[in-house]
Amino acid sequence: MKELQIGGLVSFTTIDYPGKLAAVLFLVGCPLKCAYCSNAHLIPVGEGEYDPEKTFEWLKSRVGKLEGVVFSGGEALMQADVTIEYMKRVKDLGFSIGLHTNGFYPDLLKKCVDIVDWIGLDFKATKQHYKDLTGIDIAYDRMIESLQYWVSTGHDLEVRTTCDPRYVSKDDLLEIAEISSKMGVKNFAVQKYNPYNECDCHQTNAEQREQFFNDDELKQKIESLFESVVWRNN
Ligand code: SF4
Repeated sequence: MKELQIGGLVSFTTIDYPGKLAAVLFLVGCPLKCAYCSNAHLIPVGEGEYDPEKTFEWLKSRVGKLEGVVFSGGEALMQADVTIEYMKRVKDLGFSIGLHTNGFYPDLLKKCVDIVDWIGLDFKATKQHYKDLTGIDIAYDRMIESLQYWVSTGHDLEVRTTCDPRYVSKDDLLEIAEISSKMGVKNFAVQKYNPYNECDCHQTNAEQREQFFNDDELKQKIESLFESVVWRNN
């Protein structure tokens, strides 16, 4: 049996799993190549930096202190059954399980439906720009399939869009929100794009990156579509 490849760990967070005190495990590997990726060091599948059994022992010591554990990445489901088996062990400790996902593996999402309590799903751009941003032409359709499926389960869900002005306009953001709302999404998050490397920095300016957060009309329209909208402008 392969070991889980863990590339990073946050021992305590109040923002990565809505309403819960949680730890985050960043798993190695991702099938996408997003232009703005800030976790590029997690993408090559190789040796993880954190021993999975030692990490599991540490999680045991957090029982009663934390409420949830979030599996993030990279793309946590890229390690497929190895991830799902580990999630199950963590759930058996009594934690709620969160998953940050790009939705590229709808079939694996179906496999872990009895284990995962909440997902934060990236809806990265409109269909027209998805390939430009992610480098993969089937990424949009896979994400939509994952979204449709998760909504149908009735499990908790947040759809989030990171507004990189190179790939998302204000009209695009509204279109993404409208599609999500029509599909039955109740919780939506708009995330600011923060350039990760110098090359990205030179392609956009602060005003372009802020434009999604200071347009009251856009805000109102988006907020009318959901039960809750989180504006992550930092
Ligand atoms: S899905 Fe996330 S980890 Fe994967 S390439 Fe895109 S930004 Fe990076």
